[in-house]
Amino acid sequence: MKKFPLTADTVGPVARGHPWVYHDGVRGKAEPGDAVELLDGRGKRVAWGVWDEGTIAVRVLGRDPLPIPQHLARALPAAARRRQLVGGETNAYRLCNGEGDGLGGLVVDRYDDVLVVRLYSKAWERHLGTICDVLMPLTGCRTIFRRFGVGRVDDKQGGQTLRGPDPAEVFPVVENGMKLLVRVRDGQKTGLFLDQREHRKLIRGWAAGRTVVNLFSYNGGFSVAAALGGAKRVTSVDVAAGAIEDARENFRINGLDPSAHAFHAEDAFAFAGEPSDLVVVDPPSLTHAAKADQAARGAYKALHRHVGTYATDLVASSSCTARLSFERWEEAVREGLGGAWAGLHRSAEPCDHPVAVGHPEGRYLKFALYGRLGGS
Ligand code: SAH
Repeated sequence: MKKFPLTADTVGPVARGHPWVYHDGVRGKAEPGDAVELLDGRGKRVAWGVWDEGTIAVRVLGRDPLPIPQHLARALPAAARRRQLVGGETNAYRLCNGEGDGLGGLVVDRYDDVLVVRLYSKAWERHLGTICDVLMPLTGCRTIFRRFGVGRVDDKQGGQTLRGPDPAEVFPVVENGMKLLVRVRDGQKTGLFLDQREHRKLIRGWAAGRTVVNLFSYNGGFSVAAALGGAKRVTSVDVAAGAIEDARENFRINGLDPSAHAFHAEDAFAFAGEPSDLVVVDPPSLTHAAKADQAARGAYKALHRHVGTYATDLVASSSCTARLSFERWEEAVREGLGGAWAGLHRSAEPCDHPVAVGHPEGRYLKFALYGRLGGS
């Protein structure tokens, strides 16, 4: 294993568990996928990891070096053991969450008997064979599909079947007893926004007897949850017409009549909502660039100011923007809604999206419920 010295200011963060070494934080050169040891100024080992390319030079994998196949054979089963926390009535969840599972840059999602692998680092490309060798017997899944779409790694659409038969273009999975269609080849992310599972369950509990608007609905996960929870009428809004079509179908496969609800393929920022008891707001990430923080805060504020004009009782809001802290995001939401609201609930990533404590930047998901003060 090659041994490379870290720069003086990189030793501390890596020793405290940060999973990334930037290009200028290490002196050395290796091939993507090579295991490397990382040393301090006196030549003592601080950590080990796998060589990447681009801004992140090394994905740190731990303290005591192992050949990569052995590390995979240990870390993937450890991640898979979390299955028990997800609950029995669910067959769609994240099996491996990259840095949060000691496998920086490697994501594996399970959709029934299909595993979807997504690489956020070139480092794992060479090890895909080993990854499949570990995952097939570990999970008993029929298919492993690699989903592309990460600019710096593959920069292309679609995906490729790595093991087993090709996955169906669209098929149903079960989440907390609710059915949802998934498209692993061309759906968003790896097919579904798995990170909102527990929040969809909360909405199911809050929807009874209420009129609900679900902004940025994608294929209607929050909408179906609300309808199953007894909502009077659910309105789903997403700019993507295909997602709205899938939302209708998701109502049907759950035994709900879509004609009793409303579906709009249009811009949610401009949606002219009628007075509604519960409004769910889950926009796409509004910023990636640090300097765009201010613009993103402005967009959240304007969006919530508009929502506040027709939400009569509850607003459930979410953000997947890693660039804004919970506090800064919530400040924008509060400023938009105005003073007549109280916070009822806050939460973040679910248990199948663990975040390493040495990697606070890995926290991104924010969710909060607000209720009108005094029902005014
Ligand atoms: N709540 C969803 C996930 C939402 S992701 C779930 O639980 O599955 C964000 C969604 O916003 C995407 O489906 C995207 O198509 C949609 N979107 C992006 N810009 C939009 C806009 N201006 N108006 C409406 N929808 C938009």
